[in-house]
Order: sequence, then C-alpha cells, then structure tokens
Amino acid sequence: MKRIKLISLLFAATLFVWLFVGLVIWIHVKVINWQRLNEIEEVNAASYRTFSKFIDDIESETDWSVEIISGLRSREKQKELLRENGKNAAVDKSRHVLGRAIDINLYKRNWLWRIWLKKYNSKKDWKNSGVVRISEKYGLLWGGSYHSYHDPVHFEIN
Ligand SMILES: [Zn+2]
Repeated sequence: MKRIKLISLLFAATLFVWLFVGLVIWIHVKVINWQRLNEIEEVNAASYRTFSKFIDDIESETDWSVEIISGLRSREKQKELLRENGKNAAVDKSRHVLGRAIDINLYKRNWLWRIWLKKYNSKKDWKNSGVVRISEKYGLLWGGSYHSYHDPVHFEIN
C-alpha cells in the first residue's frame, strides 16, 4: 500500500515538473517572439504587420507553433555571420538588416515530446508543414527556394 502511494506521488511530481517545464518554455518562446517582432516594428511597421499575420496564420491554420530565431540584425551582426559563413548574405543585401526578414523554427507536441522543424530539415518537410503555402499568400520569398543555399527557416519581404 505504501509502495503504491510512493509510486503515485512520484508520478504526480513528474507530471508537475513536466507541465511546469512545458509552461516555462511556452512563455519563453512567446516573449522572445514578441521582442523580435517589436524590434522589427521599430524600423519597419509594414513588415511587422505582415510577419505578425503570417505567424498568426501558421498557428491557427496548421498544428505548428512558431519560434522566431532571428529577426532584425545589426550591420555588425550580419558582418559577423558573413565571416562565419561566406554563403550568408552581404551586409547590404541582407533583408534582416532592413527588418524585412525572419528566420523561424516550428514545433509541435507529439504525445510526450516536442518535434521540431529546423534548418537541417528537408524542403519537403517544410512544404508539408503548410507554412510555405501560407507564406505565398503574403508574397514572401522563402529561403528554401534558393538554389545555392539551403535556408528553409528564412522568409523575407521582397
Ligand atoms: Zn534569414
């Protein structure tokens, strides 16, 4: 009897920690997204509106949630990225510097786990998510359509 009580207690504690960690991650992502969209709004209000609607549509029309991994970038940051990888856009060509591009990861709950769509996932996986179709509605250029560089997390306003 004691043993059953102990097991139930352990189970309840694990469930609580699991729910709590999930909640903290959820809040963290929402705050980060909000901050990154606000940075874009400060330099380009029209682009802020487009990206906000794009993300709302993804979250209401598909079962994926969005984490913005990069939004507005300073010229210094873009120079640094270019040094790290020559395939990254030149400072004057990057839409991130203008507040006209975002990089996103997608995630959804799959039973106990969270599954992610990130940069290393295939174009096919990204297309199947439905996000590329939604981006077309807003006339966004998708980084998965580049021939020279695999960048499916990138969406930009032309
Ligand atoms: Zn990008």
